[in-house]
Order: sequence, then structure tokens, then C-alpha cells
Amino acid sequence: MRGDPAECIPALAADLHARTVHTAPCPAFDELRESQAVSRALAADGAELHVHDETTMIAAGDLPFSIGELPDVFSNFRRRVERECRVRAPLPVPAIRGASDGTRALAAARSDATLAAPDLAEARAAAAAHDSRSSFGSHGARARGLARIEQWFWADDCVARYKETRDGLVGADFSSRLSPWLSLGTVSPREVAAEIRRYESERTANESTYWLFFELLWRDYFHFWVRRWQGRAFNARGVLGRTPCGAPDRDAFAAWCDGATGERFVDAGMRELRATGQLSNRARQNVASWLARTAGIDWRWGAAWFESQLIDFDVGPNWGNWQYVAGVGNDPRNRVFDVRGQAERYDRDGAYRERWAGG
Ligand SMILES: Cc1cc2nc3c(=O)[nH]c(=O)nc-3n(C[C@H](O)[C@H](O)[C@H](O)COP(=O)(O)OP(=O)(O)OC[C@H]3O[C@@H](n4cnc5c(N)ncnc54)[C@H](O)[C@@H]3O)c2cc1C
Repeated sequence: MRGDPAECIPALAADLHARTVHTAPCPAFDELRESQAVSRALAADGAELHVHDETTMIAAGDLPFSIGELPDVFSNFRRRVERECRVRAPLPVPAIRGASDGTRALAAARSDATLAAPDLAEARAAAAAHDSRSSFGSHGARARGLARIEQWFWADDCVARYKETRDGLVGADFSSRLSPWLSLGTVSPREVAAEIRRYESERTANESTYWLFFELLWRDYFHFWVRRWQGRAFNARGVLGRTPCGAPDRDAFAAWCDGATGERFVDAGMRELRATGQLSNRARQNVASWLARTAGIDWRWGAAWFESQLIDFDVGPNWGNWQYVAGVGNDPRNRVFDVRGQAERYDRDGAYRERWAGG
């Protein structure tokens, strides 16, 4: 089922004879309005939207400060949260009480089939699955997310090596690849946190297992960040109003989108993004820094392009990271990436550039 959530969700609820719909919504401006519209539409049918505080690993209600007092620097946020908060156990998947077997089967099929993202993501998934250059093709339904956890944590022990591998560019397992499910909400960050704890108690606890938790705290930070800053998350001068944005150079921007800048490391990343809707964190940092800091193009164009292409698009993590890299957000060190130096360091043998940008 696809379309306006305020129409589709009440229709689905009616189909399933559901009186309550549970959600943990994205707290950004447009998404909050959408959630309110769904709530009103359900209420008109006599049903209720139950909003859970489970979008983030740390519940917003457990923070030791108000959202308006969110620290400007991530490290200050992390230190306080690690000292003063605990991660709640994930909520169980809601049961459909009193429903017939047929209704239960329908609900299960719907939840497993739902990609919950626009057609574009499906097209990307199909393209990635058939593109021999692509390293990772699995995303979408919750069952596949749980299978990914099982494989990456337990079958292959990749989580125990994550700190050393996380800057990888080629391959499926250098990072968890859980972002598409986390951004859609088909796997919750608290489920991943619980899996980290279980792995640490049953196998090993080391810097790598901690580092996955650390990255999930980054995700939390940017979710709270977009709640704090709302419309200013999309403001050219950034949340701190630091520097004017870059120039609106349409040709240079088009070349960046097409992976035709002539800077091979950047072009490799942009071609991978376009072909698969995926990009490693290291490549994202480099292509973003190049656009905003080296080419001097308006960073919001880059953020909007990512929004249209990424299969794991998530408002806070995307716009927050873009502001951070563009030097108008919350990076106290205001770094600019030396893209060639980065390529030599992280793509030493040139395999990534070769794969996506040719010889
Ligand atoms: C310019 C730019 C744009 C980005 N846009 C998005 C986006 O739209 N959606 C998105 O989920 N992430 C975004 N990120 C963050 C990060 O690149 C991805 O979360 C990560 O590459 C996803 O791969 P993974 O699941 O294997 O991550 P892992 O390395 O396995 O990390 C585990 C999880 O931690 C979270 N995480 C990791 N790094 C970050 C980070 N820097 N900021 C916030 N959360 C993080 C993600 O939920 C991720 O799934 C962006 C980063 C940059 C530099």
C-alpha cells in the first residue's frame, strides 16, 4: 500500500480491525506534521495513534537536559548521556489481539513486504542487486534486518573487528549496514543496543563493540539535534550561523551528482551512490566535504541530493552530518578533508576508485 499516510494507515488499520496503531516517528518538522495528520485521521475512524519514545536508543524523556539544552558539541552530549542514562529494553512487537488467523497472516505479510520507502529505494535495490560492482544488496523488510544482525554479529563476528574495519570502502561487512532498517524503523536502535550487550556478555567486549554503541549515540545526537533546531537544520548558515553558504553553481553541481568532477575518489563515491543508493561513511564525508569546502557549492544542494538518493535517508543524520562537514554545524574543529590524501590512506590500492571510476 502506497500513498498519503493519512489515508493509507487508517485504511490498513480498518482492514486489520486494529483499534490502536503504534509508531515511533521521526521528530523532524514535516514528519511531525504527517504524524499529526495520521493521528487525526485515525481518530476520525475511532482508532488511536500511540506514539512511543523509541526512535532513539536513549529515550528523549530520559535525557538529563531538555531538548532545548542539547549540547552543541557531540562529545559533551556523549559524556553526559553515558554517565547519566541507560538504554531501555526494546519494546516488544505489538501483538494483534483477538484477530483471526487470516488477519494475523495478512499483518505479518504486510509488515514483511513493506519497504516503507518510496519507489526509488526499490529501484535502487533492484539495480544494486544486479550491479556487479555493488557489495551489498540486502535491505527492506524487518526479517532481513534481523538476518543481517544474526550474520554480522553472530555468524561472522564482524562486530568484534568493527573499530578496525569501519572506514572500509569495498565489501559488505566493514560496517553493520543496518542503517536502512534503522532509518525506516523496521529495526529499532534499542534492539541493536541489546544485541551489543548480549554479544559482549556471551562472546567478547572490546573497543569495537563499544564503537558500534558510540556510532548509535551519534545517530541519537542528530535525532535530538533536528528536534532542537527544527527549520534551522535546513538553513544555509547552519544552526550556529557560522559562515555564508557556497555558490549556486549548477554545472559544477551536476558534474558532482554525475560523478564527473575529474576528482576520481569523489567521482567513485558519487557513481556508487547513484547506482546503488548506498555509500560508506568515509566516502560520504569526502564527497560532501569536496562539494561544500573545495568546490564551494551550496551544501544544501548536496544534502538534498543525498536525500533523494540514499536508501537509508534519515533527516537528522543526513542534514546534521552535512552541516557538520560543511562547517556550519556542530564540528568544533571545523575540518576540511584533503580528498587526495584520504584516497591514498583509505583506498591505498586504488580498488575503490578502479571499481567505480574506472582506470
Ligand atoms: C554527509 C553525510 C550524510 C549522511 N546521511 C545519513 C543518512 O541520511 N542516514 C543515516 O542513517 N546516516 C547518514 N550518515 C551517517 C553514516 O554515514 C551512515 O549512518 C553509515 O554510513 C551507515 O552505514 P552502517 O549502517 O554500516 O553504519 P555503521 O558504521 O555500522 O554504524 C551503525 C549505525 O550507527 C549510526 N551512525 C553511524 N555513523 C553515523 C553518523 N556519522 N551520524 C549519524 N548516525 C551514524 C547509523 O544508524 C548506523 O547504521 C551520513 C553521513 C554523512 C557524512
